[in-house]
Amino acid sequence: MDIITAVKGFKDILPQETGKWQYIEGIAREIFTAFGFREIRVPILEKTDLFRRSIGEATDIVEKEMYTFSDRGDEYLTLRPEATASIVRSYLEHAMHATDPVAKLFTIGPMFRRERPQKGRYRQFHQINVELIGLEDPRTDAEIIIMLIQFLERVKLSQLKLQINSLGCTACRPAFKKALTDFLRGKEAGLCEDCRRRIRTNPLRIFDCKDIGCAEIIEGAPRLLTFLCQSCEDHFTKVKEALDTFFIPYEINTKMVRGLDYYAKTTFEVVTEHLGAQNAVVGGGRYDGLVKDLGGPDVPGIGFAIGCERLISLSPLKYADFLVHPHLFIAALGNEAQKLAFKISNRLRIQGVQTEIDYAGKSLKSQMKRADKLHCRYTLILGEQEIMANKAELRNMHNAKQESIDLDTLEDTILNIVKGR
Ligand code: AMP
Repeated sequence: MDIITAVKGFKDILPQETGKWQYIEGIAREIFTAFGFREIRVPILEKTDLFRRSIGEATDIVEKEMYTFSDRGDEYLTLRPEATASIVRSYLEHAMHATDPVAKLFTIGPMFRRERPQKGRYRQFHQINVELIGLEDPRTDAEIIIMLIQFLERVKLSQLKLQINSLGCTACRPAFKKALTDFLRGKEAGLCEDCRRRIRTNPLRIFDCKDIGCAEIIEGAPRLLTFLCQSCEDHFTKVKEALDTFFIPYEINTKMVRGLDYYAKTTFEVVTEHLGAQNAVVGGGRYDGLVKDLGGPDVPGIGFAIGCERLISLSPLKYADFLVHPHLFIAALGNEAQKLAFKISNRLRIQGVQTEIDYAGKSLKSQMKRADKLHCRYTLILGEQEIMANKAELRNMHNAKQESIDLDTLEDTILNIVKGR
């Protein structure tokens, strides 16, 4: 019979990989906590309307990538394609703004988008999300970027580029949209079918189109940066100044529009040349209108999302360095020895010593082989003769040195040697 495989685009993270994941997540927790962020855990499933209203109807995510289903006829639900909307929903539902004007939150977990699977692009993938709600000072934009760069350095990512842009605000974006639409109308014949539609639905998205004809046309298009109002211009200047204070290099990418409607003012991405077409490792930006759009007070916000799969594949940290090997293998020969091995192994495990034993009554040679294969640091050899003499042999698997230890004080001796040294 055929085995049932995982769903296309959904991937297992295997035991030999989880150590690196946990390490990287631990670094994120440590750094974000130092910057005053607290972990929040939000559900994976939300009402579909939440994403329609926040991400925007005319975006790729909402138009074609969401896993949406009717909950047995009750209502439409969606597997979250991103976390910002859920976090803002939670922020409003729990009226966090009533107790503290500033909420600094992060979350780590899976997201779901029905994209075409390829290297660096999955249908279930993981993000580390950071959201800072309640502050509009441009220094906060720089602050979270400083935190992000610190994190990327700690997980040893190099040859990355930080790209920044400003998407303006509701005061200056409409004039830009009009100029862009006018420009595109004159070039409609050269655009792909999707982009021709986007002229009416979401012209900014044309900047992201991978079609060569569209990309050529867009080179000559007006840019949002030249349309910024005074307030957006000042904001952008101050963000750049604050980044300069920390000597954080950046490029201005006037074509970066990001795929979600809620962004305003500062947007940023961290990109690499090592991921082919899927070159973004981090995406983020300011979303000053989002809390209000979701029915809350007029509170600003900014955040970013790190793609874990891309981050892990780029980080030079080795999976092998995070593997955990057993402290001890007990090789027992004969009934009495096996009974004792069962008792000692569980008593030692309770005290934190990772211990393995054999249940199959194998020969000493094959038990030693298994200890070796598991990379155990020590092997305790328990044979009938040893038990009669009230002794056991403890072998250091790295240097093959062996010592005889007393059964009466066995646990203490092992605890000292294995955990102490
Ligand atoms: P976005 O929410 O689209 O700005 O994405 C933020 C980050 O999540 C990206 O920079 C990627 O690193 C990661 N990401 C987005 N979509 C996928 C995907 N389908 N598979 C793997 N990683 C993804």
